[in-house]
Amino acid sequence: MLGNCYLNLTTKNGRFLALDLGGTNFRVLLIELGAKCTMDSRIYAVPQPIMVGPGEGLFDHIAECLASFIKERDLGTELLPLGFTFSFPCKQEGLTKARLACWTKGFKCAGVEGRDVVELLKQAIARRGDVKIKICAVLNDTTGTLMSCAWKNHNCRIGLIVGTGTNACYMEKLEKVELWDGSTDEPHQVIINTEWGAFGDNGCLDFVRTEYDNTIDRESINPGRQLYEKMISGMYMGEIARQVLVRLVSDGLLFGGYASDILLEKGSFFTKYISEIESDKPDDFNNCRAILEELGFNDATDADCANVRYACECVSRRAANLAAAGVAVLLNRINEESVTVAVDGSVYRFHPHFHNLMVEQISHLIKPGIKFDLMLSEDGSGRGAALVAAVASRSASMR
Ligand code: BGC
Ligand code: MG
Repeated sequence: MLGNCYLNLTTKNGRFLALDLGGTNFRVLLIELGAKCTMDSRIYAVPQPIMVGPGEGLFDHIAECLASFIKERDLGTELLPLGFTFSFPCKQEGLTKARLACWTKGFKCAGVEGRDVVELLKQAIARRGDVKIKICAVLNDTTGTLMSCAWKNHNCRIGLIVGTGTNACYMEKLEKVELWDGSTDEPHQVIINTEWGAFGDNGCLDFVRTEYDNTIDRESINPGRQLYEKMISGMYMGEIARQVLVRLVSDGLLFGGYASDILLEKGSFFTKYISEIESDKPDDFNNCRAILEELGFNDATDADCANVRYACECVSRRAANLAAAGVAVLLNRINEESVTVAVDGSVYRFHPHFHNLMVEQISHLIKPGIKFDLMLSEDGSGRGAALVAAVASRSASMR
């Protein structure tokens, strides 16, 4: 379907919209493809009650943001093609049809699992009646990331997200795809969304899961699910670190054995703190001290700071190693001489060492002779959706 077409940007100029739902932010994007590509985008909040409220409320909210984006830019008169990045496990039944399998990350809207999310979005748009768009594609953020890199880099075979959640997709030869029930003449390759966040849900990771992982899982809104994701991604990393710190305090190893009230609150240690603390120079603790002050520790010693940093390093290193193991498996399976991995996501982008840690670990785990690189695909999940919409609307008009 999409796997084979490397995009030729000069052949389908125009304006395309994209929606990107499922990461740290919900975004609406407008991309203009022409001699020069330009992008305009806006971030909208998805209030927590909407994330766990009825599905209609979520899709009404999305449609409302889309409508205000279109109004602000006076795009009302054109019928704009739209690509919808919906970053949750889906049963993809067509280019514009995807049934949600189950919610992940912080989302849990009633009445959406098992339903086609494109249909739900269309219904919400119809309820408003003031938006003219044509939904041309629905895709996972990993696919968007792969596509937005692949049109420039023809070695790109893997799309990886290490952000709020984690997942990867890769290009597979059709003859290896047992579940394929379409034509076997075309295409020769398809994109497989691995949904690797759910790795371990059958117990196979229990031998490396810790008491902290168990607590994170037990206290999450989806216990027993997405266990690999819960050891790697940004939604959970800060909380793992917080639990380690609380444990060190109660063992009398940190802050003289006294925890602050803030540190004892669930969620008070943000994942971005890990990136900030590890961004300190080796010989100072400037960010670390500022963060500890925010957490209510005004007189942390140098030893406290060093220990906090070490705890953060253990958590982020483990995450990078686990994600690297997943990438290595895909590289070994693809087994081509040189493969580019397109990567997006807040953890990969903002953690100062994540890229290097992953490269180092992947190198240990791949077959000799395979060369790879990890390439940041900035905004890949959103841009990719617009690109796919562009290709889809072009092939529709050529039919
Ligand atoms: C979802 C994936 C998504 C990943 C990264 C996971 O929770 O199940 O579909 O690709 O997060 O956003
Ligand atoms: Mg994203």
